[in-house]
Amino acid sequence: MKLAILSRNSKLYSTRRLVEAARERGHTVRVLDPLRCYIRIATDGFAMHYKGRQITGYDAVIPRVGASITRYGSAVLRQFEMMGSYTPNPSDAILKARDKLRCHQLLAAQGIGMPATVFGDNPDDTQDLLAMLGPPPHVIKLNEGTQGAGVMLTEKPSASRSVIEALRGLYANFLVQEFVAEAKGADLRCFVVGDAVVAAMKRQAPKGEFRSNLHRGGSAKGIRASATEQEVAIRAAKALGLGIAGVDLIRSKRGPLVLEVNASPGLEGIEAASGEDIAGAVIEFVGGRFGRRGSRVAGVARAPSEKSSPRNYA
Ligand code: ADP
Ligand code: MG
Repeated sequence: MKLAILSRNSKLYSTRRLVEAARERGHTVRVLDPLRCYIRIATDGFAMHYKGRQITGYDAVIPRVGASITRYGSAVLRQFEMMGSYTPNPSDAILKARDKLRCHQLLAAQGIGMPATVFGDNPDDTQDLLAMLGPPPHVIKLNEGTQGAGVMLTEKPSASRSVIEALRGLYANFLVQEFVAEAKGADLRCFVVGDAVVAAMKRQAPKGEFRSNLHRGGSAKGIRASATEQEVAIRAAKALGLGIAGVDLIRSKRGPLVLEVNASPGLEGIEAASGEDIAGAVIEFVGGRFGRRGSRVAGVARAPSEKSSPRNYA
């Protein structure tokens, strides 16, 4: 298959590993910086250029789109989709995952476990909003925060109210959750590829911290997720439409609760912790949809000719 990896930097660990794994399996692979892809859209068709040259003929695209370029990156990915490329993580699925509120709405609708969550806009409603959630401690999160940076713990109702007030003053979107104390500062990252959890790691927050993010000083170790945890992770990825996802769970008295579904999960931490060849699993999942010479396997993915209109997409 002819594969594009959308990534800002070919030297990043995850990008390098995917390139390596694709080449080892005989695929043609190129790293494209999504911010250097530019597009003409008109009624007579599309054209996409990259550093002055036309981009055509990619069978598949693996997006590695960071949170800071979600909008532009997903527009570029959507363009690849419209030009007939297959992607395990479509642009719409990435947009759903990046928005914590939308993600939780979709998970709840599928009956997937998650911490009770509230959100509201008007200061006059704050008291009732918090009453709908229950007594503190509360976890207050920026809707589009990452790496634990926008996640706060409040122990008293007055603290919850003042943090909410401050965030509203900054026009920040946020949600408020019940604090799941029994997670004890640990979470579980399940790496989902298609219908399987190919690796899992447990991350533990350092002493005095409730956020287990590695960027907040957490430590990781490879573990085997239970059958229930694997099933929840796979269902969560499916609920958002992601073929490849890092699903973060916490263990609670009422079973695994999904905190977030990462659409561009990093490979470095989890390959190191688990010892698994996750890049290989990703490439085999994507490459498995194509025959030897790049043609799609019938019935597995739509052929470009079915998807694009008779117009000639440059
Ligand atoms: P981010 O996208 O910034 O990583 P998360 O929602 O994943 O935000 O939260 C970061 C970390 O904070 C989690 O990995 C978990 O350890 C902790 N955490 C988040 N929400 C809760 C909660 N409701 N109860 C207990 N711990 C939580
Ligand atoms: Mg997280």
